[in-house]
Amino acid sequence: MKNYRNPDENGYYGEFGGAFVPEMLYPNVEELQEKYIDIISTPEFQKEFRDLLKDYVGRATPLYFAKNLSEKYQTQIYLKREDLNHTGAHKINNALGQVLLAKKLGKKRIIAETGAGQHGVATATACALMNLECIVYMGEVDIARQAPNVGRMKMLGATVIPATSGSKTLKDAVNEALRDWINNATTTHYIIGSVVGPHPFPDLVARFQSVISEEIKWQLNEKIGRENPDYVIACVGGGSNAAGTFYHFVNEESVKLIAAEAGGCGLDSGKSAATTFLGTLGILHGSKSIVMQTDDGQVIEPHSISAGLDYPGIGPFHANLFTEKRTEFFSITDDEALKSAFELTKIEGIIPALESAHALAVLEKKKFAKDDVVVICLSGRGDKDLEMYLQNL
Ligand SMILES: *Cc1c(COP(=O)(O)O)cnc(C)c1O
Repeated sequence: MKNYRNPDENGYYGEFGGAFVPEMLYPNVEELQEKYIDIISTPEFQKEFRDLLKDYVGRATPLYFAKNLSEKYQTQIYLKREDLNHTGAHKINNALGQVLLAKKLGKKRIIAETGAGQHGVATATACALMNLECIVYMGEVDIARQAPNVGRMKMLGATVIPATSGSKTLKDAVNEALRDWINNATTTHYIIGSVVGPHPFPDLVARFQSVISEEIKWQLNEKIGRENPDYVIACVGGGSNAAGTFYHFVNEESVKLIAAEAGGCGLDSGKSAATTFLGTLGILHGSKSIVMQTDDGQVIEPHSISAGLDYPGIGPFHANLFTEKRTEFFSITDDEALKSAFELTKIEGIIPALESAHALAVLEKKKFAKDDVVVICLSGRGDKDLEMYLQNL
């Protein structure tokens, strides 16, 4: 089997990846490329990171055998409960790892961009804990849409700066953050929230999130006497929870990988975020990958009911798995995700994030055998989506 797990020395997964950044950022990006593996591999770093994951985040998160869901779909379903992490999703794993890394690099100031505010909250949390200055760029439109998360970030001590250009959403916030990084290169670390961006960010974030599949292995072994499930399923926005869920299985031939993308209102509706179905080869946020774009390369504004999946690209790790047919991709519509969220809540008593509900909806699309072991990553909890759920009750 090919090695799908990590990129080559130039940051490529097959033909995807690399580092396409303005020349002014070369020193920062090169510093990271040269140092990240050495720093995060030291026993000292690992101990600090592991201790925080255990006592601050609450890991290991349970691997829960969902008996009622299993009965309904006539297969063996296990839920990886990332929703039980501190701050309610997997993003905190990466935020803590990167803040620790920033400290080792001697950086005093953290910047991040956020769309729905989830990554901003995770970053602000990690910065509050470790007493670092935190600046979060956020589109003006998103600030208005995501007031509770903006409030959380401010309470945590972060400065939220509105991006007022273009569509005033995530991509404009990315541009502002990059501009800041260029101007404050020596003092500042830029925390990217998913397995996207220039090399080494996709690999760095995947390594921090890989704790998810590391735990699944021993937890499954404890429960059923084998480490490998037959299937792992995760939703994909940029792809960080999926990368973490796939990481220790991607080179294991017996484990099948399934990714759920946000189909929005449907693939032909013009309101979708299903990148592998609708995208083409392009460069977005510093790496070569699959991008939703017009023929002349303008990024198409994506749509999904779930803010975390509302992204016009996909990380290079996943783009490679897609073209190599190592991962099977499904496009899940807004309505299908809602239906699955209500179903899980009713029969298991767990309100999932709308993002995670996309992964659950695969159960309606694909038939599994009675004794297949199917692990689904429940990437986050649904409190943040309550308003949307109530509108659709
Ligand atoms: C942000 C988010 C996602 C999507 O991001 P990935 O990088 O694709 O994991 C999925 N689920 C939840 C709960 C999120 O907050």
